[in-house]
Amino acid sequence: MKIDKICLTDFRNIETLQLEPDAGVNIIYGDNAQGKTNLMEAVWLFTGAKSFRGAKENELIRFGKERCALEISFTGSGRENTAQMVFGQQKKLLLNELPLKSSGELSGKFCCVVFSPVHLALVKDGPAARRRFLDTCICQMLPSYLQALSEYSRVLSQRSCLLRDSREHAALLDTLEIWDMHLVQYGAYILSVRKRFVGKLQHHAAEIYSGLAGNTEKLSLQLASTIDGTEEDDRKLLEQRFMEKLHQNRAEDLRLGTTGVGIHRDDVDILIDGKHARSYGSQGQQRSCVLALKLAESGILQEKMGENPIILLDDVMSELDHHRRDFLLNYLGDRQVWMTCCDPQYFFSLKNGKTMRMEHGRLIGA
Ligand code: ATP
Ligand code: MG
Repeated sequence: MKIDKICLTDFRNIETLQLEPDAGVNIIYGDNAQGKTNLMEAVWLFTGAKSFRGAKENELIRFGKERCALEISFTGSGRENTAQMVFGQQKKLLLNELPLKSSGELSGKFCCVVFSPVHLALVKDGPAARRRFLDTCICQMLPSYLQALSEYSRVLSQRSCLLRDSREHAALLDTLEIWDMHLVQYGAYILSVRKRFVGKLQHHAAEIYSGLAGNTEKLSLQLASTIDGTEEDDRKLLEQRFMEKLHQNRAEDLRLGTTGVGIHRDDVDILIDGKHARSYGSQGQQRSCVLALKLAESGILQEKMGENPIILLDDVMSELDHHRRDFLLNYLGDRQVWMTCCDPQYFFSLKNGKTMRMEHGRLIGA
């Protein structure tokens, strides 16, 4: 998959921009606060997902303007496509000239994997960030998973209400078994999918990490579950284990009014040579872990879709030593890649691709 052309109008600090990027590597360099990440964010929005910076739509519009327009031509699924987005009072989304109801409909049509410094949260923050990563990746490939997730959280909150209300109305506890059955059904399905996915992710990420670290360190990933600590992914068996755990934990759940075991407590342990990257990893190691996870995600997407997603790497090169930078550039091979950095010296060795300077929202040398 690749972008052939992008045009932006009044998008953040970019008044107008027209670019025909290289099919391979595109380097956008420049001083701080010039608009490099803004351009990456614009490309990302065409995946149909929300801004990776968590921005609201009206924040995307250039100060003092009423609307912003984004347009791309891209090659994907073996054909040429166009997509347009207009944000403002009248929002407009078009794919191949046909209007879409929501940006979610773009999902799966235009695929990117993004790494920006905010994604370091994947290693540094609590389990919720890692669950979100797993769920977002899986949803792109398995739409039924999203449904199961929302059913699970609905049942979970009903169960919590019931636990609390039962303190005053003990008869309510008669229905707890039914809620537990629903919870177990959705939960075991989600856990089995997550286990398989983490297995695949581990396979790709370990190989990439080992390349980044010059074969001197080993990355491993483990799904840490409150339900089951084995690699077993049989759904029926997981249902049984989950139900047993709920029974064991019932007194505690009643006391606290919450559910102490389940997939809402899952985490992914990210280990370098058996030690938690979160507690012991250096900045470069943590960055390499996230990079390996993101590139592993792109490998899995590639297997699923039969074509490479576009790779957006915002400010990745700082904190990577020259071996890691060289490995990364080689690894990316024939994918379309967009990279930003402040200092273009990292790329002097690059023979192909385009290098452009971003200055006050304008691209120079495009
Ligand atoms: P760094 O190297 O520090 O990451 P950058 O080149 O990636 O910098 P961006 O984050 O792309 O910088 O752009 C930041 C600039 O865009 C800021 O100066 C900010 O004020 C400006 N900006 C953000 N939103 C808007 C908007 N809606 N309208 C106009 N300017 C905006
Ligand atoms: Mg930036």
